[in-house]
Amino acid sequence: MNSPSGSSATGTIATGKPMRAAQYTGRFAPSPTGPLHFGSLLAAVASYLEARRHGGRWLVRIEDIDPPREETGAAKLILQTMEAYGFEWDGDASFQSANREAQDNAAHALLEAGVAYRCGCSRRDLADEPQGPLGTVYPGNCRNGFNGEEFAIRVRTDNEPIEFEDRLQGQQAQNLESESGDFVIVRRDGLIAYQLAVVVDDYLQGITEVVRGIDLMDSTPRQIWLQRLLGYPTPAYMHIPVAVNALGQKLSKSTAATPIPAGEPRKMLVAALAALGQRPPDDLRAGKLSDIWSWATRSWNPQALTGQKTIDTPNFTMARP
Ligand code: GLU
Repeated sequence: MNSPSGSSATGTIATGKPMRAAQYTGRFAPSPTGPLHFGSLLAAVASYLEARRHGGRWLVRIEDIDPPREETGAAKLILQTMEAYGFEWDGDASFQSANREAQDNAAHALLEAGVAYRCGCSRRDLADEPQGPLGTVYPGNCRNGFNGEEFAIRVRTDNEPIEFEDRLQGQQAQNLESESGDFVIVRRDGLIAYQLAVVVDDYLQGITEVVRGIDLMDSTPRQIWLQRLLGYPTPAYMHIPVAVNALGQKLSKSTAATPIPAGEPRKMLVAALAALGQRPPDDLRAGKLSDIWSWATRSWNPQALTGQKTIDTPNFTMARP
């Protein structure tokens, strides 16, 4: 879905200058919290092939805005592994931390427009509040002023459902006020929250379609809300199933996902294509990397994943190298 761009109830308070997206622009946006695992490989492959299918651009953006969660050397390792796997991104990889000024400007624009406010509530203050599917539903305590020295910045929400049509998962709707409440865009520790950073950066980079794991689908309405408030266009969204381990847990650092080996790109790419519902011929694994990519570019059909929520991770990709 491409929403009518730029119109919002509160007017247009766009900040920064976007690169004009003359054509399809996709991206892969890993957080440098550790090396790539099979789940991140699926998001990289799907977003890459989708961009190629549209004859579009594909950008790599390292989302390094949360230093406490990051691992030294991970960004470099991610980029080296992607190179070894034959991914070709347009331009240099970008680093989200470089856009801090634009992200701050967006937060200030929202404050000035009166759609965001300072919130002095600590985690403890909110401990007894109801939990929704997205965590604590913020009850709006500081909407009319706050106490204390430390504060986060929250954006106001309302009760109008935010709807979007996901290209694989179909029609989605979320009522932000009751499901998340006013949410944080600048954290108490001064770091920019993911929801705001991703919206500002997607805008500045002229992203027209976001292809990523379904674990981020429930963040999308909050991102669309911010796009509307800031007067940014809404990209199209495609949420692919997430890779899960034998216990049904999403692969991640906290579930001790195995890094994908930089030295075995062909085996891993063919496994990723099969996991993504494509049908790579057996002999592809023994061929050249470029043969895999040309087969994949020719054959890519994301509709094979329609409605699917999870992908079982093949066992051999989970063995510690
Ligand atoms: N940085 C996020 C992650 O690694 C992805 C953000 C996104 O694609 O919007 O999970």
